[in-house]
Amino acid sequence: MTRPLRADISLSAIAHNYALAKRTAPKSKVFAVVKANAYGHGLKRVARVLRDADGFATLELDSAIQLRKLGIESPILMLEGFFGEEEINIFANYNLTTSIRDVEAAKQLADADIQAPLDVFLKFNTGMNRLGIAGPMSGFAIGLAATHKNFGKVTLMTHFATADGVEGVAWQMKRFEDIVKSAKTSLAKKGFTQSVANSAALLRFQKTHLDWVRPGIMLYGSSPFAERTAEEIGLKAVMTLRSEIIGVQTLEKGDVVGYGASYIAQKKMRVGIVACGYADGYPRHAPGTNEHGTPVIVSGKRTRTIGRVSMDMLAVDLTDIPHAKVGAPVCLWGEGLPADEVATAAGTVAYELFCALAPRVPVVEVE
Ligand SMILES: *Cc1c(COP(=O)(O)O)cnc(C)c1O
Repeated sequence: MTRPLRADISLSAIAHNYALAKRTAPKSKVFAVVKANAYGHGLKRVARVLRDADGFATLELDSAIQLRKLGIESPILMLEGFFGEEEINIFANYNLTTSIRDVEAAKQLADADIQAPLDVFLKFNTGMNRLGIAGPMSGFAIGLAATHKNFGKVTLMTHFATADGVEGVAWQMKRFEDIVKSAKTSLAKKGFTQSVANSAALLRFQKTHLDWVRPGIMLYGSSPFAERTAEEIGLKAVMTLRSEIIGVQTLEKGDVVGYGASYIAQKKMRVGIVACGYADGYPRHAPGTNEHGTPVIVSGKRTRTIGRVSMDMLAVDLTDIPHAKVGAPVCLWGEGLPADEVATAAGTVAYELFCALAPRVPVVEVE
């Protein structure tokens, strides 16, 4: 017997979700975004399923090298570019496509001593104000990319702050299109392509598809939208976190559960203890008060967490699931219980749940 917690990863669901991205943006090439260990799903695993993807996007250099060593020959886009001049040579050796996140990076590339040019994604700050070349400096960066021998194929790129929200993308698209317009002359001879869409933009705004789309979260079966479920979009859950009931308690009215005694039984009730805690990646802030619980499925029936999440365990209400005993199957999220729902209850997003999956949780690949 081993501890019953495990993460099932559905390989066919990954392929299904990638195919949906392709179908939704049929004229575009697709970068499968696999940063953060493929959003916690395992870089190698996802790369194996999507080996024929048009390209991969990541930002960890060791991940990019791993992809090349797996035999991936398609473009690999480094979303944050290189860190320091010494990385430029490594980028060149592995034929990585670099994002140019500011004018400084453009100058560093121009000054680098490399044998072959690097393909570049000039990233412009169109309003998110995280990374990106500022509008007034766009001409300088574009000029370098158009003429300097160290710059290979050029793609103009930006990233949206509100593609999933009411503000949409128009306000940033307008600024991006102004930059594209200004680039048309200087890049006329060399040519260029464009890339702006994350999952939300890909699914919602056809005019953002352009040459390359960059879906991440949708590949992992989660919805980028608060008000549209993954199922409505046609996505399939990839990760299902499963465990079992490893203990049962009977509480009398007034008894409490867990650290801080934050849950107080209002009546006689049955409580199940699940082998899964925050050291496994389950969010500690998932509510389990008398007023608010977090959804969980036990023996195929929906119930809720009660009390605080501990490091290795959490408690669930079994009062209405009398047949659930020690050994009863538990689904924390995934098939039958969207990670998005659990994330919303816990005040976060499925991205964070997936990325937080702890290395100690065994992964089982399922078809
Ligand atoms: C992470 C990332 C994406 C993917 O975003 P999703 O919301 O997961 O689709 C796309 N582009 C850039 C620049 C990113 O950093």
